Amino acid sequence: MATQTTELEFFFDKYPDIPRELVVKEDILSRGINFTNTALKAQGDFQRKAYFLFTFDVDAPADVKSKAGIIPQEIRIESGPFGLRPTVLQCRQSSNSIYRVDLVDSRLKLLCGDLPLAGVDFVPKHDYYESRLKDGTPVETVAPAIYWGQTVDVTAFRTCQYWGEKEECKFCDINENYREWGSLRKQLGAIVPVEKVAEAVELSSKDPNTRRYLITGGAIKDPKKEVEFYLNYIKVTEEHLSRDFPCRLNTQAFAKTDCEKFYEAGVDYYHPNLEVWDPKLFSVICPGKNKFIGRDEWIKRAIEASRVFGIGNVSPNFVAGVEMANCNGFEIGFKNPKDAVQSTLEGIEFFMINEVTPKFDNWAVEPLSYFGKNRSKAPPLEYFIELYAGYYDLKRKYGLPWPRGLGEAGPGKCMVPATAFMDIGN
Ligand code: SF4
Repeated sequence: MATQTTELEFFFDKYPDIPRELVVKEDILSRGINFTNTALKAQGDFQRKAYFLFTFDVDAPADVKSKAGIIPQEIRIESGPFGLRPTVLQCRQSSNSIYRVDLVDSRLKLLCGDLPLAGVDFVPKHDYYESRLKDGTPVETVAPAIYWGQTVDVTAFRTCQYWGEKEECKFCDINENYREWGSLRKQLGAIVPVEKVAEAVELSSKDPNTRRYLITGGAIKDPKKEVEFYLNYIKVTEEHLSRDFPCRLNTQAFAKTDCEKFYEAGVDYYHPNLEVWDPKLFSVICPGKNKFIGRDEWIKRAIEASRVFGIGNVSPNFVAGVEMANCNGFEIGFKNPKDAVQSTLEGIEFFMINEVTPKFDNWAVEPLSYFGKNRSKAPPLEYFIELYAGYYDLKRKYGLPWPRGLGEAGPGKCMVPATAFMDIGN
């Protein structure tokens, strides 16, 4: 095939045991996709991107907003010259990407350069999107869907109290996302009312396609207030639920006694996200987390949490690739992908020895984050392949399950949108 796909084919040959879907998905996540206006206008009723937590786009918000409409939350690609099995992807708009979604002969296609690479479906609106809260608010305003409709995603606190370069995580654009896209839900404000969350999650739980809900949001500096804040959402929501509907909690690392409160309130899966393993990089990339909790304490709490929630139910997230960030004013990231992979796998192994099952998101270099403003670049594709292959080996070595609460693993089955680490096998 032509030069645009040469790199993909090179890695297909180099890693014959790695599913092609993983290679293609991770490359697309890193580079983003240019959604043409023709494609956006041609589609009718699909689920628009929620912009509830971060932007995840490669382009700046002003450029994304100038498109003919809001891009889909997710797409599913399939078939094409490489015979790809259905693969779900989070959408990240990038005008300069080699990947484009356009209409070809009246059908949506993913193109690499000018070569059609796969057929495309925009994620449809889910059944529960028909519902409205008692006050008339569309349910998806409070509780949009991710994971192709399986996870009901609530950002309860839409900003973070770690403000500015000395506290915000350097890869994160939560506060900029709220400034730029907050108007999509301006009636909610930065703190989404608890009763609305409970009502929306209960309505969404009636949809046969939904499997779980997720409560997340920014950090609150006062630890007591942070626990009370998020615990209240869980308690009120669980009281409203009329069926067993598992709960994921994605917050800072809480002390064991607080984890017990969350477990008793109804949390099934917990994500105290460490983001990056290397101690020096953690302290500089996550200065707020480092200052207010500290790396050693964070790791200790994540391990203790697995004693509360159980093996496979505690999955701290790593921002895959951020350990290779390098830019003006920040020149301490790994330069060599092998060194970066080795460092992160050291952390993965440490957690796995302690019965914690970490997870990943592919690092989206968001333009209004610190790293985006300073023009840091995404790591090469080989980094992701090596990292995820290494994770899979360690997972088997320690006999651990895939992180629970993320759905099925394996090519053609995985619905995790922002990383391909579970598109590898089962
Ligand atoms: S703690 Fe860090 S990653 Fe989380 S919302 Fe705040 S700045 Fe972003």
